Amino acid sequence: MADLRVEEADWLLTLDSQRRIIRDGALAVEGGRIVAVGKTPETRAAHPAARVISARGKVVTPGLIDSHIHTTFQLSRGLADEVGSRRFLFERMYPYEGALDEDDARVSIRLCVLELLKNGVTTFIDAGNYQPHLTAEVAGEAGMRCVVARSSFDVTKSAMGVLPPAFIETADEALERAEAFVQKLHGAHDGRVHAWFQFRGLNNSSDRLIVDLKRLADRYGVGVQTHACFARDTMESSKAQHGVTEIERLDRLGLLGPNVLPVHGGWATERELELLRGHDVKVVAAPSSSLHNAYGNIARGHVPELLEAGVAVGLGSDHASSGIVDLCQEMFLVAGAYKEVRGNAEVMPPERVLEMVTVNGARCALREAEVGSIEVGKRADLVLFDTARPEWQPLYNPVANLVYSATGRSVETVIVDGKVIVEGGTVRTLDEPAVIDAARRRAPAILDKTKLGALVAPKWPVS
Ligand SMILES: [Zn+2]
Repeated sequence: MADLRVEEADWLLTLDSQRRIIRDGALAVEGGRIVAVGKTPETRAAHPAARVISARGKVVTPGLIDSHIHTTFQLSRGLADEVGSRRFLFERMYPYEGALDEDDARVSIRLCVLELLKNGVTTFIDAGNYQPHLTAEVAGEAGMRCVVARSSFDVTKSAMGVLPPAFIETADEALERAEAFVQKLHGAHDGRVHAWFQFRGLNNSSDRLIVDLKRLADRYGVGVQTHACFARDTMESSKAQHGVTEIERLDRLGLLGPNVLPVHGGWATERELELLRGHDVKVVAAPSSSLHNAYGNIARGHVPELLEAGVAVGLGSDHASSGIVDLCQEMFLVAGAYKEVRGNAEVMPPERVLEMVTVNGARCALREAEVGSIEVGKRADLVLFDTARPEWQPLYNPVANLVYSATGRSVETVIVDGKVIVEGGTVRTLDEPAVIDAARRRAPAILDKTKLGALVAPKWPVS
């Protein structure tokens, strides 16, 4: 007897190797794993189940994978508008992050996990932070799958700017703490939590730190991630400090490989793109943060070409400080923005874009054997989108509607490891009103600690 059967799906988007779309589709789940995928009558006959969910009127997809999200930045929404990359980091986000205590971080992570789940995300890669054990704890207890990492920086002052005192540690301290974190958390929560290594950005990281983090990642069989090539500033700082661009520096240190995940990459040169392709490096695009802060990742970026070359490019919502944390909206942005800047409506078709948040995201997270598609043997991570909504009608091609019309608001059910986490649009593993209330109550203290209140107040008279 199966534990769960999902049946009568109007459209079941498998994202399997043939990209099959099944009408009146069904699947069966045992022990959190998919054991059958097919038409409803046959699946129903062969797999009696303890629980049955009807997906009539629904589009069923693999659980969405957000390949880059700062879970501790969720309380920074509105703190970093209309600032370019350098001011965004050094005047707004680093002071914000440096001011967070454990309670702030927990409230932020809960709010982030709530928003991700409500928008259909089942797996996320946290960008790295200083309370990663809390990210693992909150996401793990909420039933999600995630990659978490401890943030590392060991160069206080770079051509980019000066880091807040709270971030400063020696390479030895950073390495020791990062390794202890991976030893403790990798595989936690029934294997749903993976722990990786991270250096936050190249310009404030020494060669030694980077080399040893990669060595540790190889030893533990996990990934190592970093922000790279995300603005003109980061590229020029790298050239000024090291004489080469960021990916060239990683190559010079012999560090490029399949377990390396650079995020953004929009300013990568032709030579750097060649290096990424040649070493099976995965890449994450984060369109909303680039559009919000004018990083130039779309205008300068090469996501269509990387996808064409078979590079696994995932999609990340990055952080609430750029406004949205909704992969459906990110899909529209990456599809539409590339069409616009290239003057070509044929680039970034919806099929390539949906692959970014499913199969490509799974490769970015080094979990393609487990998730990313609806196939026998994979973990049962699923999203049911409700199409009885105006933005879903008429429905000729569910892939097009999902990318061009839907937002996360049409997510009705989310299943992770065969367990129903979101039901009727409500997250069952979190107290939604309490999470939102805690964030609301925390906001004045955040303004107080960061001293950003005057900068972010409404520009029009408030009475
Ligand atoms: Zn980021």
